[in-house]
Amino acid sequence: MNNDLEEVMNYFKEICKIPHGSKNEKRLSDWICKLAENKGLEVKQDELWNIIVHKKASYGLENSDAIIFQAHLDMVCEKIKSSNHDFEKDPIDIAEYCENGKKYLRANGTTLGADDGIGVAIILMMMLNDNIKMPECYFIFTTQEEIGMYGANYIDLSNINAKYLINLDSEEEDVATVGCAGGLNLILGKEEKQEKSSNRIYELEISGLKGGHSGVDIDKGRINSNYLAALILDCIEDVQISSIKGGTKDNVICYSTNVLFSTNTMKEKIESIIKKVLDNIEVTDDDRDLKISVKAIDKGMMVYPNKTSKEIIELILGLKQNVIDMSTKMNNIVESSGNVGIVAVDENRIIVNESLRSSVEEKKYEYARYNKKIAEKLGFVCKEEGEYPGWDINTNSLLQKIYRDSYKNTHNGKEPKIVSIHAGLECGIFAKKNNMLDMISIGPNLYDVHTPNERLDVDSVKRLLSTLFEMIEKILWRSQK
Ligand SMILES: [Zn+2]
Repeated sequence: MNNDLEEVMNYFKEICKIPHGSKNEKRLSDWICKLAENKGLEVKQDELWNIIVHKKASYGLENSDAIIFQAHLDMVCEKIKSSNHDFEKDPIDIAEYCENGKKYLRANGTTLGADDGIGVAIILMMMLNDNIKMPECYFIFTTQEEIGMYGANYIDLSNINAKYLINLDSEEEDVATVGCAGGLNLILGKEEKQEKSSNRIYELEISGLKGGHSGVDIDKGRINSNYLAALILDCIEDVQISSIKGGTKDNVICYSTNVLFSTNTMKEKIESIIKKVLDNIEVTDDDRDLKISVKAIDKGMMVYPNKTSKEIIELILGLKQNVIDMSTKMNNIVESSGNVGIVAVDENRIIVNESLRSSVEEKKYEYARYNKKIAEKLGFVCKEEGEYPGWDINTNSLLQKIYRDSYKNTHNGKEPKIVSIHAGLECGIFAKKNNMLDMISIGPNLYDVHTPNERLDVDSVKRLLSTLFEMIEKILWRSQK
């Protein structure tokens, strides 16, 4: 067992050496194809660098039900401000450390990419290790998951005949996911001419917020810095925005925003506005490092007219966002939400990007319509992108039962939690492609994914492997009966 963990961790370290941000997966994909080909396995790689590897059943197990193991190749590339890391070519610099007797992995100033590199590493171990007795297996590696699950959308599963799919893209050891939200991106844009400002220019900088995943962390009460910036700017009557830089990923709760604007208002007055705004919002402990600074800039700048600037602010504040509504079917599950992950305003264009999610398809469309109406009223052009379907809970799932029993056997009789999550999972797309697949999504403990604080609990990988092996055994045993 320890050897299996070591093998997995070694594959993970190799994966970290190969840059693999979304759309930059070719090298990692090629490397995996090589590994599989060298083993004599049947490999298919498509134009988006998705891979399907087929491995025949171990001797004597040819009649067992086939399993698909699946993970995504790409990672979210986020780094701390002072980091010089180049995600196009630098390896992720990883460090192992201990805390309260537990072993963790993290990266030096960047995301770690254990989402979903650790899933990929586990699959590589099962794919390449001949000592494990396995039924017929398909190992599927998808690309561009983090930017809209384009790989999963594109991949051709029509020739695959499997009963089960185990997705290894979850983040909590004791939680298995059996349903997910669908979503879409709204891109709201406007082009207008800037003019010379005669007023003083200020720089507003919001930083130190926790951020996090715009789906699974949306109910934690964390502040989106784009929204906070708009709340502040909204109180400055004659504001004229020169630029806004807030966020680069639609699926990350924006944690720092930088605004250049002009106004006649004095600095002291702006500072008192900031204080008043802060007094009126709730800052949770997660956001305790919040910093807001404003300083005068000694140079002239081009700015948008006051009317346009007000429209930008009104749009950001007017969009339905954060937790929109909670599920009426399951306790404490967010049903619909929105995240204004990117606001990019410069001399050429104004762009506001919101990611909307809902486990109820009709609600997803309803809120998209609502937000588009607001945007259009304010003169913005709306585009929808990256729509993905949800995954309905299957109440008759055999795989859920197999998982539950295996988890209990490998965790001292403890019950796992079975949930539906408020984030997109590739399982939603697979369900749309093949509604006969019995699926589950599991994973080890990961913390603060999609942020430079991302950490992996190494021992939880070991326990996950025991659970997985037990699941495989139960599947083999069931199909031999
Ligand atoms: Zn992931």
